[in-house]
Amino acid sequence: MTQTVQGYAAHSHDTPLEPFSFERRDPRPDDVVIDILYTGVCHSDLHTARNDWGFTTYPVVPGHEIVGRVTAVGSGVDKFKVGDLVGVGCLVDSCRECEPCRNHLEQYCDNGFVATYDSTDKHDGLRTYGGYSKSITVSDAFVLKVPENLDTKAVPPILCAGITTWSPLRRWKVGKGSKVAVVGLGGLGHMAIKLAHALGAEVSLFSRSPGKADDAYRLGADKVILSTDNAQMQAAANQFDLIIDTVPYEHDVNPYMPTLKLDGTLVFVGLVGDITPALSTIPMLFKRRNVAGSLIGGLKETQELLDFCGEHNIVSDIEVIDMKDINEAYERMLKSDVKYRFVIDMATL
Ligand code: NAP
Ligand code: ZN
Ligand code: ZN
Repeated sequence: MTQTVQGYAAHSHDTPLEPFSFERRDPRPDDVVIDILYTGVCHSDLHTARNDWGFTTYPVVPGHEIVGRVTAVGSGVDKFKVGDLVGVGCLVDSCRECEPCRNHLEQYCDNGFVATYDSTDKHDGLRTYGGYSKSITVSDAFVLKVPENLDTKAVPPILCAGITTWSPLRRWKVGKGSKVAVVGLGGLGHMAIKLAHALGAEVSLFSRSPGKADDAYRLGADKVILSTDNAQMQAAANQFDLIIDTVPYEHDVNPYMPTLKLDGTLVFVGLVGDITPALSTIPMLFKRRNVAGSLIGGLKETQELLDFCGEHNIVSDIEVIDMKDINEAYERMLKSDVKYRFVIDMATL
């Protein structure tokens, strides 16, 4: 059995998102049914809606930064009850048995995780549809507890933009004494600055946009480096333990490499695809610098982050929009005209 849910979908790469009704499963014993309050707008939603990565199956209902209240639970659920404030991020299932899954790294599941949208449920074969919708039904193991003390509408971006930058900060053991740089001040970038600062690191921003410096300092940056200014780039040589590169499109990464220290790491979280222009190995060989990638974060780590945000009163800087304005929001996101995350008020759907 299924139930009909209202949402917003893209039907092709070049048509606007529009109202769409679709079916969600009736709750299974381990399921939590969530009435969605707010959904963040991630650049990945735009990439998927427009088939930038070449693997979108239409129609697609984007949205993987979801916060809402529990309206029903399956018979086997004891971790959540009706009325709880909860979140869902980019993952709704995985095999739960492979080594990465057993190590709380569901995002690296050897058998492929099930994404919140544009994926297929492993049990009933139904398509998954995301958070640009009224409600969602998710297995309790993939539902997160959201601290009640935070501004609820500013929490959703923690579930993707936050965890995607938190995971590398933790993996590379960032703390007091660390020097971290963030490339690009958008949704991911602004969370990276807040989180690295809260962990006690000295934080720099590389931005191509001169107008963002004041915001960067307010968010917790100690330095702002204009990436289009060669003199500023050269002055930053041998500084950073970790660079988190959030830029969504092809860009020349070579100028950033010499700014890493001996053994420093540049981790890609934005670009999905080839590094163009090609990356010279010279800065890697001469100072044993590393280049890496990182994908969102596991459920345990995401809960750790939500709890950390609750304790440190960290949320996203947001602009709340109506559902009908999503297409305009995508155009503005492409122009970096958002400070620093759009969040859809689902009551407007
Ligand atoms: P966003 O809000 O649009 O921010 C991207 C920022 O990158 C911009 O604000 C801009 O900052 C900078 N930028 C530099 N060159 C750019 C260009 N040619 N076009 C657009 N922006 C450019 O995007 P986001 O939501 O933070 O997402 C960033 C990327 O991460 C996306 O590609 C998204 O798909 C990906 N992502 C990956 C994961 C993962 O698990 N690895 C998870 C979530 C998202 P400045 O103006 O400061 O330069
Ligand atoms: Zn995302
Ligand atoms: Zn697995």
